[in-house]
Amino acid sequence: MFSGIVSLAVAKEVATAQLEAQQLADAHYVKNVQYVIRYDISTRGEVKGDIEEFRRVVAETYADHRGWMRAGVKFEEVESGAQLHVILANPAEVEAASPWVCSSKLSCQVGQLALINDDRWMNASDSYNALNVSLADYRRMVINHETGHYLGHGHIVSCETEAGLAPIMLQQSTGLRGCSPNPWPLPSELWVSGL
Ligand SMILES: [Zn+2]
Repeated sequence: MFSGIVSLAVAKEVATAQLEAQQLADAHYVKNVQYVIRYDISTRGEVKGDIEEFRRVVAETYADHRGWMRAGVKFEEVESGAQLHVILANPAEVEAASPWVCSSKLSCQVGQLALINDDRWMNASDSYNALNVSLADYRRMVINHETGHYLGHGHIVSCETEAGLAPIMLQQSTGLRGCSPNPWPLPSELWVSGL
């Protein structure tokens, strides 16, 4: 009973410390916002993924302090007037959006569209599944990767150190090229151009 009370008190202290750290980080990023990107959420074609879950994961990924927020980007979901359309798309619809650029096997960014391939959303990729990386991390990675293209980034083909974290702009879905899976932009990737 006594130890229960003590551990409850400790848990409360830890929770308070975490909340304070979070508030400090929030204050830091709110102060350093340089770009506000209004985005909306939709589906295209027949999809297996749940749109409300998709909406929630995109919002959480965009609000995460490990993400593009560190490059001074704040994302706001809107119902109309979006600059960026984040779309859960049937694989054929991904390819149809730009047949020369996009493939039905992958997700793709075309102009204002970040098309997340429904098949990858539901099943991740062979490269991630071979390493038992969670579907949650695959989803964060693919959202951050396609959003990175929208922010002006092209592809990166290798990691900075042997077996180091893969840059978010490495095509992790097609293979990790000896890097470790990583769903977040690296410090060297925290820039935005052309917005
Ligand atoms: Zn890409």
